[in-house]
Amino acid sequence: MNMIRLSQIIAPELVAAAKERLDVCTNVVIVTHMSPDGDAMGSSLAMRHYLEDQGKHVTVVVPNKFPEFLAWLPKANEDMIYEAQKEAADQVLETADLVICTDFNEPKRIGSLGDKVQSLACPKIMIDHHLHPSDLADVVVSYPKLPSTCELVYRLMMDLAAMGNPCIETLPSRLEIATCIYTGMMTDTGNFSFNSNYAEMYQIVGQLVELGVDKDKIYNAVFNAYSADRMRLMGYCLYNKMRIFPEYHTALIYLSKKELYRFNFQSGDAEGIVNLPLQIKDIHYSCFMREDKVNPTEVELANGSKTKIKISLRSQGDRPVNTFAHDIFGGGGHANASGGEYYGPLPEAVQQFLDNYQKYFNK
Ligand code: 5GP
Ligand code: MN
Repeated sequence: MNMIRLSQIIAPELVAAAKERLDVCTNVVIVTHMSPDGDAMGSSLAMRHYLEDQGKHVTVVVPNKFPEFLAWLPKANEDMIYEAQKEAADQVLETADLVICTDFNEPKRIGSLGDKVQSLACPKIMIDHHLHPSDLADVVVSYPKLPSTCELVYRLMMDLAAMGNPCIETLPSRLEIATCIYTGMMTDTGNFSFNSNYAEMYQIVGQLVELGVDKDKIYNAVFNAYSADRMRLMGYCLYNKMRIFPEYHTALIYLSKKELYRFNFQSGDAEGIVNLPLQIKDIHYSCFMREDKVNPTEVELANGSKTKIKISLRSQGDRPVNTFAHDIFGGGGHANASGGEYYGPLPEAVQQFLDNYQKYFNK
């Protein structure tokens, strides 16, 4: 394989600190964020295959179920789902001598798994690209400028190889690793349509294709895999539910539990709905809200409310939405893709949005 030299993004001392821990571990647990997306699944599974090839025992634990359109990822179906297998997963976590946290920055993002991970004394490595990493891990490999954690995972693997650890191309699972990494790079950039304007990303893609990745097949597996119900839900959102505020270049869509039920809602079905209004000329900001259940672990946060509203925000170009997510909904995220939660009835969350968006969204 023609290996190109990527610029060194991860500080050498961090690579060395990660190497020190990876070299000596035997039982690894990898955890990733709630409602796992392509980058969460891709980064955790890529690390799993990479470490298994080096003789480690590895378990991936996800807080809740991942969407069906990611179930084809190699070994995705071996993930433990904390919500459903808490006791068994707790046991595995208690025997871990290394925990790796991928694609999230703070314990809150993994729900009740956060308390468990925090209580463990073993070393922890965080590999992530969200702003403001918490001190959850003792080695924090965090680069918010990168569009995906998967790209960071690839870079870390290359940097480790430069320090004498195995090169991806020599590992039996090189195709599985490359496939997982490509999936996260693709999904977190909307198939290379945002946060994706720099040459090195395509050099990495070139290397992944050299490793055998079939990018067209991955695209089809992820993006052309909707259920008829999901497609109809999207149509319903656009036709019946989308509100446009032209003078503020803003769109808003919200769905109640009843509406979701009507379309036989499955985890992952809402993925991408928030991006749709951005296809309209002169719409630069989009907000999507959906009613969700309050998990048993969120009862305190919910403060008596039986409903939780999950808020997603997207924007284009130099128009950050993470400040709005933070100020109005106590959330956060990236400049162009952020989110938050509101514990209370849906109409209240909508009103919060309507009372505040004009101050933030106007260009
Ligand atoms: P999504 O809209 O896909 O659920 O989330 C987009 C991004 O927003 C995530 O990658 C994450 O960075 C951020 N995000 C979503 N929900 C929350 C939240 O409740 N709190 C924080 N801090 N960030 C969130
Ligand atoms: Mn990500």
